[in-house]
Amino acid sequence: MSLSKIISGAESARDEVTELCSRLVQFNSAHPEGRTDECVEFIRGYMDEHGIMNEVHSRNPLKPNIVAKIPGASDRKVLWLGHLDVVPEGKPESWTYPPYSGKVTDNRFIYGRGTSDMKGACAAAMVAARILSGLGELPNSVEFWFTADEEIGGGDGARWLAETRRFQADVCVIGDGNGGGLDYPSIDLGCKGGAATRLIARGKTAHGSTPFLGDNAITKLIRAIPWVEKIGDLRLELPPELEEPIKSSVEFMMGTLTLSDEQKEAMRRIFHYPTVACNIISGGVKRNVVPDYAEAEFDIRLTPGSKPLRVKERIEELVREADIPGIEVSVRAGETAGYYESPDTPFAHQLAETIEKATGRMPVFKILTGGTDAISIKHYTGIPCLGYGTSMTGQAHQPDEHNAVENLVLGVKVYAAFPLIYRG
Ligand SMILES: [Zn+2]
Repeated sequence: MSLSKIISGAESARDEVTELCSRLVQFNSAHPEGRTDECVEFIRGYMDEHGIMNEVHSRNPLKPNIVAKIPGASDRKVLWLGHLDVVPEGKPESWTYPPYSGKVTDNRFIYGRGTSDMKGACAAAMVAARILSGLGELPNSVEFWFTADEEIGGGDGARWLAETRRFQADVCVIGDGNGGGLDYPSIDLGCKGGAATRLIARGKTAHGSTPFLGDNAITKLIRAIPWVEKIGDLRLELPPELEEPIKSSVEFMMGTLTLSDEQKEAMRRIFHYPTVACNIISGGVKRNVVPDYAEAEFDIRLTPGSKPLRVKERIEELVREADIPGIEVSVRAGETAGYYESPDTPFAHQLAETIEKATGRMPVFKILTGGTDAISIKHYTGIPCLGYGTSMTGQAHQPDEHNAVENLVLGVKVYAAFPLIYRG
């Protein structure tokens, strides 16, 4: 039957998926340019070669998106979504192999920017499309989308595609993230969202030699920062159905990362409390001028299902309690943060069933700490999104980023099998 064909087809596509990943890595699609044109051209060539219907959708000609479409018998449709853009490579000297080499070692690992996040998963999806297109009529239609701009918010990629209603489907599998390979198979139910916060300090300028005649905005900003950081002690109210996935998420991270005791403690709190990071600070013009302006920006992350407006209120209250004149805070928060799907839906059960068939283990449900394109898909189209990624733990955005060929083969199995198993 078709499922066993998929499993054996994926296993014999080891070299093909390795080669495709390596080739995708060699097209530099790093931001700030974030060009996806070469990757898209390469994918178009592959789909054409295998007689798979495809379309390029672009708002920015340097950042095209491409979809491969395989028709099915029912009017149900499954989407798969991945991104082709990558983050910059950072310092070239921190890489063992050049970052865009796509170097394959021992026939087991592929090195280079994007191997884990997420050209490896894109390569797996390409092979999945090829396998599915050779099976005859499928029970459901499938579309594999390869997009631009995920790393900078999806502007010319998934966000634009969602906003313009190019995504129409019953369910969407997000290929981003870490599906735990063979050892810790998992499904991402959703991801955290943010409450971007800016703290502004205003004072009075003076000559640097008579600072007491001025009012130093930087000094005030530094005093105010710890007050915003106190938001990290606010316990979030969360929906009870997330308690189990939160437990698995923490266990997943503890089991796959090497952490100090202090880091473990922070990891145990990561979903029940906001995380706070003051990541940008600016102010001052000259060493001999007392600054009259300074600002700090915070990345505050909240678990889906929590109440961002309550967090916003509390931050404003904390800054008032600090009682430092000339300090203002602005918090960008909406009704919801991030998104999540209930673990108890046919979609979740059937994706779990697929992963169990591919790995031999029942996957756990977890929540991602970072955001994905699913947030804009949910926002604009409401299509339910679950994640199963092929990345290796701790590799995304790192120097020496690499991925295991084994993970990609698993990706081929899951991405090709799910459209057969999905029954709504
Ligand atoms: Zn990614």
